[in-house]
Formats: sequence, structure tokens, C-alpha cells
Amino acid sequence: MTFRALVTDKTENGKIVSKIVDVDESDLPEGNVLVGIDWAGFNYKDGMVLCGLGGMVRSYPHIGGVDFAGRVIESGDPRYHPGQAVVLTGWRVGEWHWGGFSTRARVDADWLVPLPKTMSTRDAMVLGTAGLTAMLAVNRLKSDGIKPADGDILVTGAGGGVGSMATLLLARLGYKVHAMSGRPDLADELRALGAAQVVGRDVLAPSTKKLLGTRWIGAVDNVGGAPLGELLKQMHQGGCVAAVGLAAGDAWEASVIPFILRGVTLAGIDSVMQPYETRVAAWERLASIFSFSAYERMVTETGLEELPAVGEKILAGQVKGRVIVQPKR
Ligand code: NDP
Repeated sequence: MTFRALVTDKTENGKIVSKIVDVDESDLPEGNVLVGIDWAGFNYKDGMVLCGLGGMVRSYPHIGGVDFAGRVIESGDPRYHPGQAVVLTGWRVGEWHWGGFSTRARVDADWLVPLPKTMSTRDAMVLGTAGLTAMLAVNRLKSDGIKPADGDILVTGAGGGVGSMATLLLARLGYKVHAMSGRPDLADELRALGAAQVVGRDVLAPSTKKLLGTRWIGAVDNVGGAPLGELLKQMHQGGCVAAVGLAAGDAWEASVIPFILRGVTLAGIDSVMQPYETRVAAWERLASIFSFSAYERMVTETGLEELPAVGEKILAGQVKGRVIVQPKR
């Protein structure tokens, strides 16, 4: 029995190449649940894996894809039965373990989440890791006590997956969102997701001051690097930044001043190693808050063949919203 997958390999001269292969099912890694994949998502990390960056893959040949949704084919775990719809994000799947750019995956039952009843497997991948991460970031702002009436929220990298999801979720919860994007042509789309204002990347332009005028009570930051340093200087007293990503870099020149003079919180968000109960609760909350119809214009469907090119695009910051992958295509 074989299945179709995008297999990524390292050539003798160290080049990373990907091609579609019929793989023998006996080659699948260990795990107690076999899943037939309907949809996978395409994330920034997937771009890094397909372009051979970041050293995330432990061994080759490899099948990438850090999230997927589908139906259980076989299960050695009583929590899952054949035909059941499931979603997987995180747990280093697509990095250390073969992932979703494939019609089949064998995984550990502990990594799966049963799909909320109202969600299709396509819906699950429209959300994917980006939706889960945005939900965790929004939950973090809320648990830090930030309420819609407290002030404005900045979402950086708003044109990307996590940023566009965070914009929509925050707006639906009544927060006033300023969506920061380097792509002015996305302004109408970001407003349609609920952004009260769309701002350029210049709002976080470099400055030499340790503190700036206060603008934001909360932020979901997907870009990290120097813009995150500037964002911290603009936070109101008691504000909270949920730090999600590093599209602009992983380092900035730091000062403790925003923390000790304005009590600012910098809260790290990790979607990969979240316990089962937290993931189930976040997926259920997404099912009740998210608007798939409002988000649909941010979705692009693709097949396995196109993925290496999509990888280059996402690393160049040129992907809009979510790209979802139909591995059978
Ligand atoms: P995307 O590529 O879809 O979005 C990133 C966005 O950041 C881009 O669309 C662009 O938005 C903006 N951007 C890109 N380069 C720069 C730059 N140099 N300066 C400022 N803005 C820039 O990625 P995702 O939304 O999937 O992920 C966002 C980040 O979050 C990534 O770093 C990813 O690795 C990380 N991540 C972390 C997770 C966690 O668990 N902590 C989970 C998922 C993702 P625009 O053009 O609109 O400005």
C-alpha cells in the first residue's frame, strides 16, 4: 500500500530538494493512530523546512507539514475511532516527525485533537496553527486583564496567517484593533476582518529613546526583532504584548525601562507544546468565535506541487492570510 507525499531530501552536495513520491505505508514513522489527510496548512515554519533553513529537520528523507486535518483510518488508542475527524498542530510534527504534506500520517494519539462538531476538516486548516496561536495570544491578553474598553490593540504582521487571524478574533471580541502591515494593498481586506485602522510598519520605526508616547494597551506581535523593541516603548502602563513570532528577526536592543516604569508584560506564546486540555479549549473557543465567511477571502488553496514556491513566498513575507493544501491534488 502506498500513499502520495511531498518528500523533502538532502542531496550529496547538501541541497534541499522536494518532489512528489508514492511512499510505502510501511515507511511511516511510529505512532498509534493512522490518519487520512484531507487538508494541511502552510506555515512560516513549513517555508523554512522546504528551503532548508533553521536546522529543524532531524533526518532525511522527510515529509514536512506542521499541521493537518483529516479522518482516522486506524487507531490503537480508545479515544479515537475510524472515521473520526481530527486536527493536529505542533509537537514538532513536520520537523522531527513526518507531517501533513501527504495523504497519510501516523502519529501519537496524544498529539491529536478531536475536531469541534461544527468544523469541517477544511475549516480546521483555514485556522490551523495560525488560528490556534492567535487564539492563545488573545486568551493571554484577556487573562492579563486587558478588556476592550481599556484601549487600542496593535497586531503586527497583520497580513500574514497569525496576524490576520488575531485581527479577526480580537475584533469579534470587541477590541479596537490597529492592524500593522507592510502591504498597503491589503488595507481593505484587513478592515473587512474587523481592523478599526490599518497602519504601516513605520509605526514601529527605529528610535533611540527608551520610552515613547503611549499608544497600545495590548499587542499581538508576529514580527519580533527591532519592531518589538519599539512596540514595548509605546505600551501603556500595565499593557501586555503577546510575543508570537520572528518574521523581522529574533533579537533587539533591549532595555528594562518599559517593564519597570510602565509595568509592561512581555508574554511568550508557544502553540507547539500546549497540553491537550488547553488545545481542546482553544479549538472549541475558535469554533464559537471565528467567522469562516469573513475570512474566506484571505484563503488560498493549493496542491503539493506548488509548495516549494509557496515556501519561498512565505519567507519573503508575500503570502496573504492562510494557504491550505489538498495533498490529493
Ligand atoms: P506569515 O509569513 O504568514 O506572516 C508574517 C507576516 O509578518 C508577513 O505576512 C508580513 O506581514 C510580516 N513581516 C514579514 N517580514 C517582516 C519584516 N521584515 N518586518 C516586519 N513585518 C514583516 O507567518 P505566520 O503568520 O504563519 O507566522 C508569523 C510568525 O509567528 C512567524 O515568525 C512564525 O514562525 C511564528 N509562529 C509562532 C508560533 C508560536 O507558537 N509561537 C506559531 C505559529 C507561527 P505584512 O506584510 O502584513 O506586514
